[in-house]
Amino acid sequence: MATYVFGHTNPDSDSIIGAISLSYLKNQLGEECIPTRQGDISAETQFILDRFNYTDKAPELKTSVAGESVYLIDFSDKAQAPKDIEEATILGIVDHHKLGDLTTDTPLECWIRPIGCSNTVVKQMFDFYNVEIPKDIAGMMMCAILSDTVIFRSPTCTKEDTKAVKELSEICGIEDYKQLAMDMFIAKSAVEGASARELNTRDYKEFDMNGVKVGIGQLEMVDISVLEPRIEELMADMQKMKEEGGLHTVLILLTDIIKEGSQLLVASDDESKIEAAFGKSLENSQAWLDGVLSRKKQVVPFVQPQFK
Ligand code: MG
Ligand code: MG
Ligand code: MG
Repeated sequence: MATYVFGHTNPDSDSIIGAISLSYLKNQLGEECIPTRQGDISAETQFILDRFNYTDKAPELKTSVAGESVYLIDFSDKAQAPKDIEEATILGIVDHHKLGDLTTDTPLECWIRPIGCSNTVVKQMFDFYNVEIPKDIAGMMMCAILSDTVIFRSPTCTKEDTKAVKELSEICGIEDYKQLAMDMFIAKSAVEGASARELNTRDYKEFDMNGVKVGIGQLEMVDISVLEPRIEELMADMQKMKEEGGLHTVLILLTDIIKEGSQLLVASDDESKIEAAFGKSLENSQAWLDGVLSRKKQVVPFVQPQFK
């Protein structure tokens, strides 16, 4: 019976490419694995799949896993898993986030490292098992790392990530990977024709913070000023998301990868908690957070303690 490999809900490039790269490695090691996804493919990920002629081989949508064996990549939070994850057997987790709240009944393989991208962990697994990476998969893994580390600008980026990108660029034969990455972020920045809900949920994750539900979305853009005329609309929709989902707080980060900072939008039952988290007062439920690029390293660790 095949094992399914998938990343978090609202999959980003790391989740989709990670499902592909980890499945490929497992298949080479003699374990039959199928890459799947829990949601739509983003514009950024589509750009990567197109660039490496992989669109026809993209992971299939699969949102129910009861009775299946699975590997998780790029998450270990129950809130980011299929609803019936507790009826599946988790064989392993490959990730680079805080440890989530999923647990297992049986021993598992676990590769969780505090580095910039799950695909860097997968690269290290290829090296560990001495398995060659095909050109197209190497190129896609390289793009996933450049995306997660915001072209090495994110504080989550480590030497291991830059080393992995250099080695992958040699394998795929792309020297100017920074230009490729910039083109990828331009594809990711497209907002024309997208509804407020599409924008708010494009890269959105929910967290259970000690029994309190908090949703945090992020839009990584090469220029966030294009969203200025839409901020009111985005904030009205955040209120709706908060009410519909029974959440205490919804945060959206409009991250400007050139200015290297984020405009924080807040919909919360208690704004003082968010002000305390960042040591900043909100104006019209907003604040500019200079230098903030990473949700996992610069947002979640400061918000979560407010709900202890
Ligand atoms: Mg991710
Ligand atoms: Mg990731
Ligand atoms: Mg990301």
